[in-house]
Amino acid sequence: MKELHTEAAYWCTFDTGITQWPQLTSSCSTKALVVGGGMSGLLTAYMLHERNIDFILVEAKEISEGSSLASTGLLQYCSDMMLHELRKHIGKQKADLFYVSCFNAVNQIGNIAKRIEAETGDVQLHTRSSLQLCSEPIDALKLEKEYEALSSLQLPCELWDQQRIARHFPFSKRSALITHQDAEINPHLFVIRLAQFLSKYNQAIFERSKMTGFDKLADGSYQVTINNEHRIHAEYIIHAVGYHYEQLQQPQLNFFINRSYVLVTDPIDDLSFWHERMLIWETARPYLYMRTTKDSRIVIGGLDERSSILNEKDALQKSKQLLLELNKLFPATETGIAYYWNAYFHEPKDGLPYVGSDQDDPKRIYLLGYGGNGMVYSMLGANLIAQIISGAMEQPELASILSVTRT
Ligand SMILES: Cc1cc2nc3c(=O)[nH]c(=O)nc-3n(C[C@H](O)[C@H](O)[C@H](O)COP(=O)(O)OP(=O)(O)OC[C@H]3O[C@@H](n4cnc5c(N)ncnc54)[C@H](O)[C@@H]3O)c2cc1C
Repeated sequence: MKELHTEAAYWCTFDTGITQWPQLTSSCSTKALVVGGGMSGLLTAYMLHERNIDFILVEAKEISEGSSLASTGLLQYCSDMMLHELRKHIGKQKADLFYVSCFNAVNQIGNIAKRIEAETGDVQLHTRSSLQLCSEPIDALKLEKEYEALSSLQLPCELWDQQRIARHFPFSKRSALITHQDAEINPHLFVIRLAQFLSKYNQAIFERSKMTGFDKLADGSYQVTINNEHRIHAEYIIHAVGYHYEQLQQPQLNFFINRSYVLVTDPIDDLSFWHERMLIWETARPYLYMRTTKDSRIVIGGLDERSSILNEKDALQKSKQLLLELNKLFPATETGIAYYWNAYFHEPKDGLPYVGSDQDDPKRIYLLGYGGNGMVYSMLGANLIAQIISGAMEQPELASILSVTRT
């Protein structure tokens, strides 16, 4: 299996407690087999647990070793495609539903975090506001339209002018859109805590247990092979395999393959120059995105390039470029590079994640949260999958918007 990122070591520097789960060493049976131990797989497992649906989760490598470890952990209800633009592409009703669902999903992740923190440990989740900066004067109109669109749905937001930005930050931009009730999280800790929480309830989670094949049986169920050796009999297979899309053989998936760069600075004594520690991004596409951390560092990501090869060699060079970008916004910041990495990042061409049943095989379900808000999409997908498997679809319109077979 291809590596999804160069060494993304920062999120593991906090005390995580137990991070090891057993390998599958015998054959067994379950209602739902969740394939993939990242944000999507673990949130799905959590939602199945909530509904008392029997499941087994298998991870080919180790829990939270994939893209979830490379993530920058911004939880935002606004997507890469602005609401007023999405309305033009898929229609007002669908776009509005998608945005409201994302807002609810951020809130839901917050509630789940509280629940699992009480029984496991900290996931470093903090509610934050986001600041989307106007990169070019011409984008000011876009931000105004977006402010009107979000406000029409009562989504919490404000539009700041140049003077107001200057009162709170050391940089000058023509305008900025503020969205409230977003959050930041340590993505690795969150995934690990979900697994620890589920283990407390004796749920079955296996590492180093790769799904290597499956057969469909006459009764419509599946005989899944793990590590070319053991078998799991399952009624449903949930493919939460992230960017390991090749194994799915799904030609209708339509996305760009990018690589993105991330830099984590050394700790900074005084971060008071960073108003309310907002999550910062911009109208430019691709955009820079940045946040602060529990141990007073800055995480900044971006410089995305279309490529299907990771750029190990130039990752340090790109992190220096990210530091320069940071210094353009915060010139007085004196800090160095502590961690950096380069990671795959898939961008769906229509801006929407893929969630739902296989066209020809409805009990094989995909959760591919591609896009900049991948973790929020993992939550949307986990909800839909729990509904599909429990036989009580509560969000049919959302399911149709995110369907793998949408045209
Ligand atoms: C640099 C970067 C920054 C990002 N920043 C943000 C952000 O700020 N906010 C946000 O919302 N999103 C962000 N994202 C996106 C987000 O991180 C991803 O969408 C999310 O982590 C994907 O989770 P996942 O579980 O789908 O995939 P993964 O975490 O990659 O998990 C998939 C797992 O499936 C396993 N697997 C694959 N095939 C098999 C098999 N056959 N058998 C068993 N296991 C298998 C893999 O080993 C892997 O561990 C970012 C992504 C990147 C790369």
